[in-house]
Amino acid sequence: MLTVDDDVVFRRSMAFALEGYQFQGRDITLLQAGSAAQARALLVAHPDIALLLLDVVMENDDDGLMLVRHVREGMGRRDIRIVLLTGQPGMAPMRDVMRNLDVNEYWHKTELGSDRLEAILNANLRSHQFIQEALQTRRQLEQLLAAVDGASHVPDLTGLSQALLVDVARLLGLPGEGLVVMWPAHTTAALVIGATGRFAELQGRPLDALGDPAQVQRIEQALTHRPGMAAAPAHALDLLMPLHPSSALSTTASPGRPDDLATLFALWMPRRQPPAPNETEMVQLLVANVGAQMHRLELIAKLDRLAYHDPLTELPNRNGLLRMMHAAGERLSTMVLQFEDVDQFSNLNLMLGFETTNRLLQALAQRLRDEAGPEVLVARMDNDTFALLGPRDKLDTPLHRHRSEGITVSDGHFSAVLHLTGARVDLALFSGPPEEILATARYLLNDAKRRGWGQEVAYRPGMEAAARDNYRLGQALHEALRAGEIRIALQPQVWLRDGTLKGFEALARWTDRRGQEVSPVTFIALAEASGHITALFTQVLQQSCHAWRVLEALGLGHLRIAVNLSALQLAAPTLAQDIADQCADQGVPPEAIELEVTESAVMLDPDGAAAQLARLRQLGFEVALDDFGTGFSSLARLRSFDLDWLKIDRAFLGEIGQRPDHETLPDMIVTLSRQLGLKSLAEGVETDAQRLWLVRSGCMAAQGLLFGAPMPVAALPDWLRTHGHLPAQPVTAGHG
Ligand code: C2E
Ligand code: MG
Ligand code: MG
Repeated sequence: MLTVDDDVVFRRSMAFALEGYQFQGRDITLLQAGSAAQARALLVAHPDIALLLLDVVMENDDDGLMLVRHVREGMGRRDIRIVLLTGQPGMAPMRDVMRNLDVNEYWHKTELGSDRLEAILNANLRSHQFIQEALQTRRQLEQLLAAVDGASHVPDLTGLSQALLVDVARLLGLPGEGLVVMWPAHTTAALVIGATGRFAELQGRPLDALGDPAQVQRIEQALTHRPGMAAAPAHALDLLMPLHPSSALSTTASPGRPDDLATLFALWMPRRQPPAPNETEMVQLLVANVGAQMHRLELIAKLDRLAYHDPLTELPNRNGLLRMMHAAGERLSTMVLQFEDVDQFSNLNLMLGFETTNRLLQALAQRLRDEAGPEVLVARMDNDTFALLGPRDKLDTPLHRHRSEGITVSDGHFSAVLHLTGARVDLALFSGPPEEILATARYLLNDAKRRGWGQEVAYRPGMEAAARDNYRLGQALHEALRAGEIRIALQPQVWLRDGTLKGFEALARWTDRRGQEVSPVTFIALAEASGHITALFTQVLQQSCHAWRVLEALGLGHLRIAVNLSALQLAAPTLAQDIADQCADQGVPPEAIELEVTESAVMLDPDGAAAQLARLRQLGFEVALDDFGTGFSSLARLRSFDLDWLKIDRAFLGEIGQRPDHETLPDMIVTLSRQLGLKSLAEGVETDAQRLWLVRSGCMAAQGLLFGAPMPVAALPDWLRTHGHLPAQPVTAGHG
């Protein structure tokens, strides 16, 4: 306490009056200054001055008020209590001065009897004490805020736990030693995730490693402690608190380790003295904040799992694979990426139901992991596509032997043979960003799937260029279709018994803008892949109808024009009616049109195709099974199709004349068609020997270069005349 007065008598009487004065049982040191300047020096030398008793008027009238301003504003000391004294009545300072400068009391010296003086001192020292505590709290709060702020930058649970231990220790002035413990959901043991001081070696180990069962039990109780339940028994000499996220405060739960709870956290710090009065709230505040952070990190870890893992198979998903490919960097070039796709997966789903299929996928995931071994990363890309990434030698063999016979997986009740289609990218041959690698593997997989079951396609350098060309060709085809540049060529079909004309097959022809003929095998596949096949068919059918009208006008309306259907078209439910409508629109009867479907197209969905062909026949069209003998039909199947013609593929004509009659494949096919009540037509007949053999074997019709190459519609009349199918035109002026 400091008194400031230029009156030495007053200073002495003050010293006398305060002799033996104690505040809350503690002695108070009395400092005295005779001038404002002296007072300033003492204030600097004794930062623990709590109370200033100040004479307002000293050498100068405003010395007292100047000193007050200095203490409050110059030194920034708002905690020092100031009591103004005056010896002269009427010298009271203005009220607003008192308020603004936080002067606490104002007394006339004559009023200060020793009782009153003591009361004044007591009151002011007490309020100084309050202010000190408040300021201390405020400093701690500032530390706390800094700690919490720091915590939000710590990226992981361990770092956060360590920081919490350090901060709590600093806040409470404790030696930095303690534990942060985590009890992950669905597990049976708590884990030390933060450990400092003499506990440091427990970091990352089970809580049991503390080696003090009673203490372990208390910490576990704190972990599972929920608000509203009795807390773990108080223990004066340690700090033990659960780290609840604020949202968990409202949940109610039963004691023990209920499995449906989120991961739990707790803080434990032993200490050697009882806690100070308001520190518990302080620590609770810090702990609640950090607790919330921990649960947020936990959530992030969960979200991370969701984003990068497939919950069904416990494998990384596409994102997870990408992340690892990015992380692998240069090492990728020593690896192979392989896609494996389950054939007929949607059928399986439909047949077995969602749950069984899921269990089979889990079993398959396990199989792939087991067979590929620990060095290969297995990921699930989507429904039924898995990816394997690993060193070349580890991926060379494992799955190849399953290609042909399939891979048997079981869920315990049901087992199924799954066929896998594969795509393989050797990353020494293909380099690019991981996303591009995946896209390439996907492209190869689609390619492999088009080839049928259990196929594998591997990346070959230069493939991109082919794909790019293919893409450009697709664009060009699209434009050609729009511009009506796809034309038909008609190839004659004849009856073998007398060489008369049966009709023509319409074959699509495309000459691209550079004047190059593109093979129909190429552009039909392209039209199928790019969704243009129906447009193409419509144009071919339209031109075929026109060609038939030309024939009709020439008196040859009994001839038929055969048009090819693509496999994809068979899936359209309105196909037969659409064709009928289109013919009707052009005034062409169904008897004028024959539809050819390849054997392999029909076998993709035999039941659907059978229904489709039956409908076409009901509408009056004839139906031919094209390229017969190449598409694996079973005889039983063949019977179920409603057909008019079997077209024997030209591949079989090569056998003619090599073995005695009745043993060759074409002969068997002719016999078969007769037994099934079908008409037979041989394709690709080029020689007269072939024709003679076919006549003898009983084949009914034929098509091939021997009879005529495909020709444009405009060439029809001339061809018909030169081949005797029309009476020769009389020579008119202007011709020949
Ligand atoms: P396809 O329907 O079996 O047609 C017969 C193919 O054999 C035609 O080939 C024809 O030019 C060829 N050819 C005819 N006679 C002989 C011969 O004596 N010797 C040899 N070596 N070949 C002969 P092209 O025109 O190249 O057509 C190939 C395939 O493209 C067709 O086989 C058909 O599957 C498909 N295609 C053609 N046009 C269309 C169409 O408009 N729509 C659909 N979906 N496919 C078509
Ligand atoms: Mg054909
Ligand atoms: Mg054919």
